[in-house]
Amino acid sequence: MLNTANKLRVQDAFARLVGRWFIHPGAFRLLTFHDVRDGHRVEEGAITAGQLAGFLAWLQREQYATVTLGEALTNWPAITARRKTVALTFDDGLLNHWETVRPLLKQHGMNATFFVPTDFVAERRAKRALPVAQGACEHWFMGWEELRSLVQDGFEIGSHGCGHRLIGSLETPRARWEVRESKRVLEEQLGRPVACLAYPFGQRGAFSPASRALVFEAGYQGACTQMGSTPNARSDPFELPRLDVNGHDDPGRFERKMAGAYDLWYRLRPAA
Ligand SMILES: [Zn+2]
Repeated sequence: MLNTANKLRVQDAFARLVGRWFIHPGAFRLLTFHDVRDGHRVEEGAITAGQLAGFLAWLQREQYATVTLGEALTNWPAITARRKTVALTFDDGLLNHWETVRPLLKQHGMNATFFVPTDFVAERRAKRALPVAQGACEHWFMGWEELRSLVQDGFEIGSHGCGHRLIGSLETPRARWEVRESKRVLEEQLGRPVACLAYPFGQRGAFSPASRALVFEAGYQGACTQMGSTPNARSDPFELPRLDVNGHDDPGRFERKMAGAYDLWYRLRPAA
């Protein structure tokens, strides 16, 4: 088993030697961010505010336009054909999305979609334990007050299920509840239709043909995974691949990710 540092070295070498032959610089991309805070633990997928500011500044310098996932889904083939367009998505409904991410996005004139697990939202901000791959991690979550202010700013709110569970691995009635109830609660509280869902965890087991059918049946326009690669006009709108941005991404790695140098690595990963 490779440790994280060695795995990153292998990934980077692969991207430089093999991935670079398959790049599509400027292609439409869906990016996923999680925790954005200083003094974080990189292994939990967090990035610092400085890292996010650097990534947003790079996108601005490169003249990328941002769209919400909901906007992209209304005109999918045309949006995927656009050059230098990106959908930024932030998962888990964390309070630092309101405190840190929102001002940075506004400063750069960028839009984004925030995926929220509804069981973690109370009327006011609250500290809760979020189930993650390694167990559970304590976070402060946005309350409805913060989510309403994001909506007022023009940001999109999407569903991340209710209890942050592996929807694709649940019994059908429980999976149906996660998909439907989260949409119902968000729409009731925010007074806006909810167009999309991000499967919690987003990798194998997080979604399945059965959960895909449930998401469709619940009236969503689309859903996304974490199977990082370049989405295109033929992508299944209910299993859209997002590319994860994490604390290991320095500016060079972010730029290579945006060009698609890691796409092949992520495509081969399930078999690895
Ligand atoms: Zn999540």
